This record gives sequence, C-alpha cells and structure tokens, in this order.
Amino acid sequence: MQDLSIPQALVSSVAGARHVMVVTGAGMSAESGVPTFRDAQTGLWSRFRPEELATPEAFEADPDTVWAWYEWRRDLVARAEPHAGHRALAELAGLVPRLTLVTQNVDGLHERAGSRDVVEFHGNLFANRCFLAGHALRDVPRPCAKPPTCPTCGSLVRPGVVWFGEAIPESALARAAASAGDCDVFLSVGTSSLVYPAAGLAHLARDAGAVTVEINPEPTEFAGVATHALAAPAGRALPALLASVQQALASGRA
Ligand SMILES: [Zn+2]
Repeated sequence: MQDLSIPQALVSSVAGARHVMVVTGAGMSAESGVPTFRDAQTGLWSRFRPEELATPEAFEADPDTVWAWYEWRRDLVARAEPHAGHRALAELAGLVPRLTLVTQNVDGLHERAGSRDVVEFHGNLFANRCFLAGHALRDVPRPCAKPPTCPTCGSLVRPGVVWFGEAIPESALARAAASAGDCDVFLSVGTSSLVYPAAGLAHLARDAGAVTVEINPEPTEFAGVATHALAAPAGRALPALLASVQQALASGRA
C-alpha cells in the first residue's frame, strides 16, 4: 500500500491549531470490526429490525429480549480492539492546546485507545442507567443475562444509549456546537456527514472559518466543500497525519 500523502497546508493547520475538533462516525468503528447498527443483525437477531429493539417501548414490553440484544452487541465490541486511527487521535490530543472529540459511536473504543472526555452523542453500550429515574450504573458486571434492578429505586436497568424517539443529550449537543464555532480545524472521520447533527457541525465550523477536513474511504457530499478531503480509511489517514504533525512540530515549522 502506498504511503498516503498529507497536504502540507493541512499539516501546518493542525500543528498550529489552538483547538482541533474531531467528529467520528460508524466508519471509524467498522475498521475495528464492529458492525454497523444494521449490519449487526445476524444469526439469532436477524429476524428483528433494530427499530423493534432500540426503543423505550420495546424495553417496556420485553426488557429481557432488549437487554439480551445489547449483551450480544457488547460481546461483539468486547472482542474488537481500537485501531491505529483511534490511537492517533488520543496521541494528537497531547500535541495541540485543545482537542474536542465527538463520536456517534456507542462502543467506547476511543476511551480504550486513551482518549479522555469524549462527547458521546448516542451514549455508550457499557454506561447503564435505570429506566425510570436515570440513576447511573456505569459498571454492571458481565456477562449479565437479564437486566438488573437499580439499587436506588428498584427500576430495571437499561443500556445508556440513545434510542429511537429519544434526544441526543442536551449537554453533548451544546458542547459540540460551542466547539464547532470555536475550533480552527474540524475533522469529519468515517461519518456520512449527511446525517444530522454531524452535518450541521461541519457546516457550523466551516462558516466560523475553520479548516475543514473529511477523512472517509468513500468521499461524501461534504468532501466537495471541505478544505481537504482524504479518501482513505481512518486507520491509515490519522496515523499519517499524526506523523506529519509530529515532524512539523519537531522541526519548528508549525
Ligand atoms: Zn434508579
């Protein structure tokens, strides 16, 4: 495989940035072998549509089945490992004054790669809370065949993800919007960019004057308006970008 060439202007922008914002989507996780929401429906679960399982109504009607589906998905994620792109982002955070990482993924792979303070738009498969009062139960010992009950209020425990019909947490949206308006470099990684709210953030950053970058093997509509578009997987593009930025910083060219 040929080395990916990173435009010098992009390297300078990142190396000299005050605030880098990164939004990652399903493509980021797919490179680690985590199937996308829809591709995950195989075997026993192929007879269900995700919409029939990922709703508060489904959990109320049949909590054991919904919980079992999430346990199965947690197993898929537990067998996956963060890739070089995840690790490169964690390392990049140490090279710039500020880095805001927003993800649409629920697998926690960014944290496992060493990223801190990740803004999770759709929650996290492993961050559980009780159904009625939202009491947090971050670590339910696994495996766990049936939903446990909340020690505080006795309600059933549900996965801490955003279901159909539920809103993205207000705090996550507010942080992301503020970052998009403030960042000087915006990276869209492995996301279709067309899906709200990621699309909105990219355009917000662009309108605020940020250098915008799309990293995706299949260029999306956003590639046409972004400052730079790298048609490559994150696992290749991000380590290459990181190496170039490190080199620029070491030689004082930033
Ligand atoms: Zn509770």
